[in-house]
Amino acid sequence: MSTKERVLVAGAGIAGLGAALALGGGEREVTILDRDPPPPELSPDEAFYRWERRGATQLRHSHAFIGRLTSLIRDRYPDLLQELLNEGTRLFGFSDALTPPLMDKYTPVAGDDDLMLLFSRRTTLELVMRRYASRLPGVSFVNNAGVRGLIARREHGRIVVDGLKVECGGHIEEMRADIVVDATGRNTAFPDWLRQEGATVREEESPCGILYFTRHYRLREGQDEPPRDGTPGGGDLGYIKYGVFIADNRHFSVTLATPEIETEMRLAVVKPEIFDAVCLELPGAERWMNPARAEPVSRVFSMGNLQNVWRHFLKDDEPQVLGFFALGDAAVRTNPLYGRGCASGVVEAHILRDTLDAMKDPAKRARLYAHEMRKAIRPYFDSMVRLDLQAIRRAEHERDPAYKPGLRARMMKSFAEDAIAPAARGDLEVGRAISRVFHMLDEPTAFLKRPEIVGRIFKVWAMSKKMKEELGFYPPKFGPERKEMLARIGLAA
Ligand SMILES: Cc1cc2nc3c(=O)[nH]c(=O)nc-3n(C[C@H](O)[C@H](O)[C@H](O)COP(=O)(O)OP(=O)(O)OC[C@H]3O[C@@H](n4cnc5c(N)ncnc54)[C@H](O)[C@@H]3O)c2cc1C
Repeated sequence: MSTKERVLVAGAGIAGLGAALALGGGEREVTILDRDPPPPELSPDEAFYRWERRGATQLRHSHAFIGRLTSLIRDRYPDLLQELLNEGTRLFGFSDALTPPLMDKYTPVAGDDDLMLLFSRRTTLELVMRRYASRLPGVSFVNNAGVRGLIARREHGRIVVDGLKVECGGHIEEMRADIVVDATGRNTAFPDWLRQEGATVREEESPCGILYFTRHYRLREGQDEPPRDGTPGGGDLGYIKYGVFIADNRHFSVTLATPEIETEMRLAVVKPEIFDAVCLELPGAERWMNPARAEPVSRVFSMGNLQNVWRHFLKDDEPQVLGFFALGDAAVRTNPLYGRGCASGVVEAHILRDTLDAMKDPAKRARLYAHEMRKAIRPYFDSMVRLDLQAIRRAEHERDPAYKPGLRARMMKSFAEDAIAPAARGDLEVGRAISRVFHMLDEPTAFLKRPEIVGRIFKVWAMSKKMKEELGFYPPKFGPERKEMLARIGLAA
């Protein structure tokens, strides 16, 4: 009989695939269960149009894949990266993203090559990762397998998870394992199942405050991407945020994120003609999706119920459940706008591997995993919660004609808009420091703890607006004010 540790992973989304990469290779027997059918044997384009994937409803939303993920894949799974590139995805590095004021000043330093986005549709990344993972020794996938419950027992006052109840082909099968991993995503039922066993699973929740709307486009025959002239591919107008997500094989998408309270706008942008009309008013989006350059290839996908959620599986720092670990959205959910969900899931899978490698004692494993996960992810979570609450307040102010900001609010706005943002565009060191935060390589406040970076930001703050404008430190205007936008797209303010 095999003495290898048996791992059952519920969910073959990005975190489940991360677990396959991290735990596969032959030292363990890893079985990945997913409620959905297997991915189709199709090209990335065909899969994008035809892959039925009910278990991951965000599949056809824009996804950015940040440096924390891409550098992990490059360093640990170079063959996977090569397969992704062979399928039409591409890497976009720090120097590719420089604004015109910085292009001539750039000299590479150590770490710059970690600051790279992978331009890919989520379908393409998932398809290629899945094919790669299924070839790994020790890894097998079971499709059309819906996990319906836990097999658990009590030992010395703790819950020990021994396996899963899985619905396959119309009947429930009991599958046993040494380790059970919950990677079933945002709607995980595991916390409820654990509660039924007597565990306390505390959930911290905070609203993202936005709704997500995505439409995909393809560059027309003979058309190229617009030139990189410093026009940002995303922006925040308070009443709406937008982003252009470059993808693979001449595809890209535009996402509009509306505050939940922007009722008129959110009801309207789901209509393709309104969605496009809004995009045409946003210079950073228009230059991509205007009908001369690109054609729409999808409807407008929408998504709500976006929450930041952190689940605590320890109680008073004490493990209550042994042989069980949660990864990805099942453990922590964050605002999609920051593009950190997939990186977090894959990083957590590698923390799990290090934990399992480091020790055998189940209680010590549970504690170590929770602590390491917290160290790696929590600073970003806290920062996103804070920024989301600020954005919610800003959106409320946008709708209130009587709102007059106080001194503190004016100073904060000026620090963000006249110091940090122009310094990031005009000062290479500041741009690099902020980019490291964006890519989840440095903690969110790391740059504010470096006196030389803070000094450079204050120097930019002290410059006159006119000088910053002349030097190209300000981005072009993101788009019209709220009232003007509503009028232009035919909605009453
Ligand atoms: C609108 C939107 C946009 C986003 N944009 C980005 C982005 O730009 N960049 C980024 O990094 N992240 C982004 N995210 C977050 C990212 O999609 C998630 O963080 C990531 O998919 C989490 O991976 P996961 O494996 O935990 O969950 P999922 O990818 O959702 O996978 C869960 C899997 O579990 C399976 N499953 C569910 N229940 C069961 C069950 N009972 N039995 C068996 N299988 C089950 C599902 O079929 C699915 O395969 C976005 C999220 C949303 C909602």
